[in-house]
Amino acid sequence: MKPTIIIGGGIIGLFTAYFLQKEGVEVLIIDKEDLKDNCSTGNAGMIVPSHIIPLAAPGMISKGISWMFSSKSPFYIHPRFDAKLLKWCLQFFKSANASHVERSIPFLKNLSLLSKALYQEFREEHPESAIALQEKGLMMIYQTEAIEKEEVEFAHLARKNGLEADILSPKDIGNIEPNLEVKARGAVLFPGDAHLDPGKLYGFLKDYLVKKGVTFFTNTEVKSFEKSGNKVNAIITNDGKIEAEKVILCGGSWSGELSKMLGFYLPMMGGKGYSFLQKNKPEIKQAAILTEMKVAVSPYGEHIRFGGTMEIAGTNQKININRVKGIFESINRYYPDFEAKFPEENKIWKGLRPCSPDGLPYIGFAPGFSNVLVNSGHSMMGVSLAPGSGKIISELHQQKDPVLELKGFEVGRFS
Ligand SMILES: Cc1cc2nc3c(=O)[nH]c(=O)nc-3n(C[C@H](O)[C@H](O)[C@H](O)COP(=O)(O)OP(=O)(O)OC[C@H]3O[C@@H](n4cnc5c(N)ncnc54)[C@H](O)[C@@H]3O)c2cc1C
Repeated sequence: MKPTIIIGGGIIGLFTAYFLQKEGVEVLIIDKEDLKDNCSTGNAGMIVPSHIIPLAAPGMISKGISWMFSSKSPFYIHPRFDAKLLKWCLQFFKSANASHVERSIPFLKNLSLLSKALYQEFREEHPESAIALQEKGLMMIYQTEAIEKEEVEFAHLARKNGLEADILSPKDIGNIEPNLEVKARGAVLFPGDAHLDPGKLYGFLKDYLVKKGVTFFTNTEVKSFEKSGNKVNAIITNDGKIEAEKVILCGGSWSGELSKMLGFYLPMMGGKGYSFLQKNKPEIKQAAILTEMKVAVSPYGEHIRFGGTMEIAGTNQKININRVKGIFESINRYYPDFEAKFPEENKIWKGLRPCSPDGLPYIGFAPGFSNVLVNSGHSMMGVSLAPGSGKIISELHQQKDPVLELKGFEVGRFS
């Protein structure tokens, strides 16, 4: 019996394997790296049903242009002549409108809620996993009138869509954070959001899948495919040929290159971001986003992770220290008493978020193929959406009707 091959062992590949092995499918995961670190290990770990608006939204273009002039800003597109980047930017601009946002909301919301429910189920099934899923909500903190207006409008939109959102005064924030001052004009709390430790989740899942008989080939790069008709029969790697029953592309920011090998178009750019850990002193209790700077704050008791910036960077992984400074300087701007220490360069984590130009993931069959599926492009929500999209792919793989409507996630929508 030939295995189903998952290309890419990030969190999306692992959750896809998790649901497939539950169905008794023989799974082989192939990754070009050693799986000690990728975009899935050091991110902010937020589970965010509140994030119902895709990255491609009105306002992103004007903000994006103003941010281009600051080396410490939260969003940046390195201007360069690159046909792939220009095409991606054009598709992003075309998608950044109100009707796209309106169309996307139910797709993102339903996938997010499914994922959150699957995380709760996962925690119950695997109490030993210690993924530290903390269901304490997410606080969007703002300091300026302009961002207050946006966040409050967004809170109303979230409520209209059935999500809980509480508008907080500085006094309310003080009650949530009793240990230190928070410099804020106010905040919106989404009680339905949660956060976890992504490194612990990733490590647990990897070990668990090995125990369940999933095979891993690491340091093995997929170079091409052997096709006949509408099927892929085998993948060709730097280490030889492997026959496949079905193939699932979970290649993160590199998924566009994999699709090119198969002859279909899947626009994708890496959105580079950074994070670093600090001693949590004085203790910040509440997971938050510092909205003007788009910095994520994920507390884990004694330690805390700060992460942010989105630099549309292709697959360039070089650390841009000014962007890290942007994250670092945000800490005391919002929490003046926090004992922040600039991290040494080898303690700075970086990752490439796989970004589609319309801000929605690609989930489903690859155009023109009956045995190739794609699960990629989850951008800044890969951890949040991984169980839901993994479950859906396993349903499609098993020729079952998926639990959700998938039209917004169609793989061939840019072909
Ligand atoms: C600073 C930061 C903060 C974030 N915070 C959050 C958050 O709070 N919540 C959230 O949900 N998400 C967050 N994200 C986003 C999240 O990390 C990503 O969406 C997610 O990790 C993507 O997972 P993936 O499996 O698609 O990609 P990856 O983790 O990048 O995995 C893809 C894998 O495919 C392999 N691969 C690619 N091409 C090939 C090939 N040809 N052959 C073999 N292997 C190949 C790669 O080596 C890689 O291991 C954040 C990201 C960043 C950078």
